[in-house]
Amino acid sequence: MSKKVIIIGGGVAGMQAAVTLEELGIRSVIIEKEDGLGGKLRRWDRLFPTMTPAEEVLDELKDRVQRSGVEVMTSCEVSEIGCEGRMVTLKDGSSLESDAVVVASGFDLFPAELKEEYGYKIYDNVFTTVDLERMFRNGGVRTVDGRIPKTVAFLHCVGSRDEKVNQRHCSRVCCITGVKQAIEIKQEHPDTEVYSFYMDMRMFGPGYEELYRQAQQEFNIHFVRGRISEASQTIDHRIQIKAEDTLIGLPLKMTVDMLVLIVGMKAGESNLRWSRCQGVDLYPSSFVKPKNLFLGGVESDSKHIFYAGTVTAPKNIGESIDEGIAAAHRVAQRLKEE
Ligand SMILES: Cc1cc2nc3c(=O)[nH]c(=O)nc-3n(C[C@H](O)[C@H](O)[C@H](O)COP(=O)(O)OP(=O)(O)OC[C@H]3O[C@@H](n4cnc5c(N)ncnc54)[C@H](O)[C@@H]3O)c2cc1C
Ligand code: SF4
Repeated sequence: MSKKVIIIGGGVAGMQAAVTLEELGIRSVIIEKEDGLGGKLRRWDRLFPTMTPAEEVLDELKDRVQRSGVEVMTSCEVSEIGCEGRMVTLKDGSSLESDAVVVASGFDLFPAELKEEYGYKIYDNVFTTVDLERMFRNGGVRTVDGRIPKTVAFLHCVGSRDEKVNQRHCSRVCCITGVKQAIEIKQEHPDTEVYSFYMDMRMFGPGYEELYRQAQQEFNIHFVRGRISEASQTIDHRIQIKAEDTLIGLPLKMTVDMLVLIVGMKAGESNLRWSRCQGVDLYPSSFVKPKNLFLGGVESDSKHIFYAGTVTAPKNIGESIDEGIAAAHRVAQRLKEE
């Protein structure tokens, strides 16, 4: 009888894992709680570091899924993994049997309203990087009353590296997201002044450092080392920010048309449910802990449960897709051994 693998989550990691399994001759079914495939990629406009349209990558992945004949169940949420990866229970109470499970349920976005001091959802012109992606997709960056912003400030590490909100980890991809968006604003509106308040710039990927340099040298974006301590709204709906420039050791106060909070990645809410399953362990951050960071990054302590993508840690799209491929090969090897 042919083997069947359940993939939980139809983001980039899950889609690629399913396609690779089919290429290896193993039937796979993607179970996705949203009404379509793509995960967070569906929300992005252009991708760092190359400014490739997100739609291009999404369409290619969806094509691969369709061509390979993977079964897809959308608007369908997995609530439990049972019998160490031999079955899953869906939210409607029904269950599906499988020979293995690949958990590719991804990450959640940090809810910026938890950092009340920055006024998200309180003041009109405070946005997040996710809001900005939506603006880019819908025709451009504007203040709530439809004006082109003359000054924009970005704030790094919102909901990351922050003990107060119990998110101690670095989300890795948000420095480069902020740099990319700052450049996009300058490309759209060359006269807009853009400031970026950071603690450290973490440019870990290929082409990232180069984009950061381009942001400074070609687009004259002002990078200020320091954290914004508070934001308040002025009578004309602009945002006044107080910060300290920690390089020169001076306090700083400025008023901008728009404040953009660079939100981090937090562990997916499903992870707590997965941890009820034997063989699935979590880090204190609630990201899923792989069996071995060096030798088994896509494996769990259960023989039939595997991981791919940001369910284990913040990653970019390329890394998440690579893990989809790696997880599929590990599954295939395990099923062959049995
Ligand atoms: C603001 C921002 C911008 C970014 N821009 C870029 C970029 O330009 N370039 C780049 O390389 N990376 C970018 N990234 C990172 C990129 O979004 C991730 O690398 C990628 O989305 C990870 O894919 P994934 O499949 O692991 O997870 P996700 O995209 O989170 O997909 C997981 C899927 O699992 C589903 N799911 C979760 N729980 C369940 C359940 N219980 N049952 C069924 N389905 C479930 C979810 O609905 C989701 O569709 C960005 C990240 C952020 C925060
Ligand atoms: S990648 Fe940059 S913005 Fe994101 S948490 Fe790490 S240091 Fe902060």
